[in-house]
Amino acid sequence: MNFLPIFLDIKDRLCVVVGGGEIAARKVGLLLRAGARVVVQAPTLGATMVELVRSKQVTQRAERFSESILADAVLVIAATDDAEVNRKVHTAAMARNLPVNVVDHPELCSFILPSIVDRSPVVVAVSSGGASPVLARLIRARLETLIPASFGRLATLVANFRARVKQRITHPGRRRAFWESVLQGRVAELVYSGQDAAARTALEQRLAVEESNGQPLGEVYLVGGGPGDPELLTFRALRLMQQADVVVYDRLVSPEVLELVRREALRIYAGKERDSHVLPQESINELLVRLAREGKRVLRLKGGDPFIFGRGGEEIDTLAAEGIPFQVVPGITAAAGCAAYAGIPLTHRDYAQSVVFATGHLKDGTVNLNWKTLAQPQQTIVFYMGLHGVEIICRELIRHGLPHATPAALVQQGTTRRQRVLTGTLETLPGIVEHAGVKAPTLIIVGEVVRLREKLEWFNPDV
Ligand code: SAH
Repeated sequence: MNFLPIFLDIKDRLCVVVGGGEIAARKVGLLLRAGARVVVQAPTLGATMVELVRSKQVTQRAERFSESILADAVLVIAATDDAEVNRKVHTAAMARNLPVNVVDHPELCSFILPSIVDRSPVVVAVSSGGASPVLARLIRARLETLIPASFGRLATLVANFRARVKQRITHPGRRRAFWESVLQGRVAELVYSGQDAAARTALEQRLAVEESNGQPLGEVYLVGGGPGDPELLTFRALRLMQQADVVVYDRLVSPEVLELVRREALRIYAGKERDSHVLPQESINELLVRLAREGKRVLRLKGGDPFIFGRGGEEIDTLAAEGIPFQVVPGITAAAGCAAYAGIPLTHRDYAQSVVFATGHLKDGTVNLNWKTLAQPQQTIVFYMGLHGVEIICRELIRHGLPHATPAALVQQGTTRRQRVLTGTLETLPGIVEHAGVKAPTLIIVGEVVRLREKLEWFNPDV
């Protein structure tokens, strides 16, 4: 290591910043966040620094750098564009064994400032040792997405329980297991969704269960896995996928998305191929309840969004009735994903002022839909599960007033590298399905907006 990473307590200690420009002001901001007393030595100040002085957050010494200012300081930062001043600050600080940072001059620094992810009291610091500050910032950006914004609140909650837990759970191994389950389970999830009071109660309960040697209750995450491209997952979905003990997934979940589930998690395939459900809906519901009762964190992973033709409502209905904690994480639904990747805006000021999502799933060989409301001008219609009923769909839409020549598109395995888009009209669509060997999952988009694809097509994965 070129530098030793440490966290310095500078609360109420004197820190000196030499220079009054914008960069100096940024460094001052950082020092203030850590509670320092800051003196700025500079003959003139930039706008931000003027404001800091005016609001009495820092004190200005309106003069050029003089060594005497370092007398009571615990660290010094030089941010001037005068090479000679910078060097003087460096020399003076070194002579006093004072940590010094000269902005953008690593050779004049005895300490460097890392890129930080601030979830106080938790702070993550990243440094490239001066080799590439941009790289450090990119790493920081990645961490930002991985660490929930409310991590700090979780840390604070946990801190309040630390002494008590230590006293009640005396075995160190058991205590560690306890904290792991708290920090990656229901308590943490409640904090992340802003329910701090409930989180506190859940932590109390969890401690009580631990003391009575009982079985803590697990929970279920009903998560939308999006249409296929794993980059379309939400941060929350990814986090829950990484902490689940068991995953119960559908056929619609793409292999690329499933790949991101924690390796150690038990995988249960719940099927749902057309007419050949591996597990009937009832047993899926029961399975979720049983697994949660065993204390498992159960990821119920669905394609797209769980509340759009996903039967997510039925699954959590059972959980609610059985008193199993759960949360629902939305996903990008097939309509949004396929439309974007096919270059077909679902609405457009000139062509469609509304969009409807409908199921084309056949029940007893017919599609029972309100055709009149679907077959409206200036409206885009998106059919999920419409492949088998495509003939009926096109026929009924024409019968209820849409022109034969209304543009329509088929998007197969949208957003994935296997995406295929075929366009035609209400008249030609059934033939296309038959002759091009179109397979599920395929989404049907009907409406004038389909024409826009000619201009807006952008996603052409090579197979
Ligand atoms: N909950 C899901 C929909 C489940 S219904 C969602 O919000 O997207 C299943 C239907 O969704 C399929 O029959 C198909 O019409 C559509 N679908 C889902 N993913 C798709 C994809 N990647 N490409 C095309 N259609 C898809």
